[in-house]
Amino acid sequence: MSFASDVRGEIAREPCAHDCCARSEVAAALLASGGISFRGPHRYALSLTAAEGAVARRYFAMLKQHFGITAQIRTLLVDALGGRTRYQLVVAEADAPALLEALGLLDPAALFGVRQAPEASAVRYACCRKAFLRGAFLLCGAVNKPEGQYHLEFAAPTEEFADFLSEQVQYFEFSAKKTCRKAKYVVYLKRAEEIAGVLALMGANAAVLQMENVRVAKDMRNRVNRQLNCDVSNIGRIMNAAESQVRDILYLDEQVGLDKLPKPLRDAARARLENPEMSLGALGEAMSPPLGKSGVNARLRKLAQLANKLRAGEDTEL
Ligand SMILES: [Zn+2]
Repeated sequence: MSFASDVRGEIAREPCAHDCCARSEVAAALLASGGISFRGPHRYALSLTAAEGAVARRYFAMLKQHFGITAQIRTLLVDALGGRTRYQLVVAEADAPALLEALGLLDPAALFGVRQAPEASAVRYACCRKAFLRGAFLLCGAVNKPEGQYHLEFAAPTEEFADFLSEQVQYFEFSAKKTCRKAKYVVYLKRAEEIAGVLALMGANAAVLQMENVRVAKDMRNRVNRQLNCDVSNIGRIMNAAESQVRDILYLDEQVGLDKLPKPLRDAARARLENPEMSLGALGEAMSPPLGKSGVNARLRKLAQLANKLRAGEDTEL
């Protein structure tokens, strides 16, 4: 089971208490499913096709409880190779006009007399707006598992429906974007906190919790990685600097001999040769007597200057 499927399963178990919400949600589900077809004047075929049995059962129960309609559930095998099952809820043709009327979707001015989005009055209350999002998500929604890239979308069959859906998301102050993909109008969200917000609106609380857990783990991992990258680049810097110091010291030894150097320089040179991987601070601590970081730095700089002068053939005083 995918994360999206789990989320739909969770939302499908969310009770729908009010008639106002049932109207809004069933309208959203029918329109999102693209399940309204025109059969002639006052004749419509209504169906919902869902990926989860729980979704089909939810609307079976809602039609019965809130509209007094007994629908039928059929099982479809969509892809013979993949063996994917779909659950189709079919409303008897005789019940279709009354249901469309009750949902406020009949409109003589609309194409084939059916609206592609409900009237604004269908979502008069916040509870009905949430119900609309639930219906739309259960039939055309998807969400990525939080371990991957954050993404929640509704793939709407018409632009009118997509725009109405966007308005509902925006009402709750989440910023939905819209794009076109394979003849669908896709309304989507990308930010983790907004996705969690929309999931919470639809009642997917377990999914929100799971997202939060993964988000915390992700943040932690990012912080650790950042720290690690930082450490690695510091080590790289130390190694580069130490390498050129060692080269200078070996050159001095070859040209004049380390024994000839003044004691402070000689000690620093020997310490560096023995500990090429150490940072300046650690190198100072390893010397006896111990020396501060800036003291070590000054001596190593002096050694580098000497080596450079020698290389350039300038006079040097030790
Ligand atoms: Zn309501």
